Amino acid sequence: MERSCEQALAIGLPAIAFTDHADFVKVHPGQYCVDIAGYLEAVERCRAKFKNLRIHTGVELGEPHWFPEETRQVLGVGKLDHVLGSVHCVRISHRVLDASQLAHTPAVDPREFVPRYFTETLAMIEGGQPFQTLAHLDYPKRYWREYREQDFEEQLRGILAAAARRDLVLEVNTTRGKMLCPSLAVVRWWHQAGGKAVSFGSDAHDPAKVAAEFEQASAMVEAAGFKPAAEPTAFWRR
Ligand SMILES: [Zn+2]
Repeated sequence: MERSCEQALAIGLPAIAFTDHADFVKVHPGQYCVDIAGYLEAVERCRAKFKNLRIHTGVELGEPHWFPEETRQVLGVGKLDHVLGSVHCVRISHRVLDASQLAHTPAVDPREFVPRYFTETLAMIEGGQPFQTLAHLDYPKRYWREYREQDFEEQLRGILAAAARRDLVLEVNTTRGKMLCPSLAVVRWWHQAGGKAVSFGSDAHDPAKVAAEFEQASAMVEAAGFKPAAEPTAFWRR
């Protein structure tokens, strides 16, 4: 975290948010649920050390609608500025599969997986768990080269309408470089759905990648009709 703060200052960011994982499904050996109390202590240490940087707190809840009690426990530890809701997994053929496993799971057709993923995302939004930001909306495209958002326009528009009804923030995730997640067409649908705000997430599991591709993401979001909003919200708004 300290190295990420150093990087943020080096590239001129006014603020940074750490949204570590609260994963309750364990499909990868490295998956974990953040220790929120320890995390908040680490944020305080960074705030004391980097006084010129605003450091926002947060968490990324994985499939919170499957785990309401675990979610309640995580969020009960302390106040967080940014709570992200994300879907990584769907239940398919009697197992829980993360989209990242698609390439190694030839038995599962991405054409079957992706619609289920979007159905799960809608269920998460309508499940009412207390998150504010919808993370990496079309996450499976990282693992399926033939993905085209227009093939799923109806489902995506349904998700975006539900997110707008809840007044969620749509994250533009830049972790795959030029392949923004979601891309311009979908952010335009978000604007058309009445979506009010967009945030940027570099999903930087590495300090060197903090805010990577944010310039490209800013230009895209602006082209879709959003403008930067003043701190402390950190979002772009319509
Ligand atoms: Zn995620």
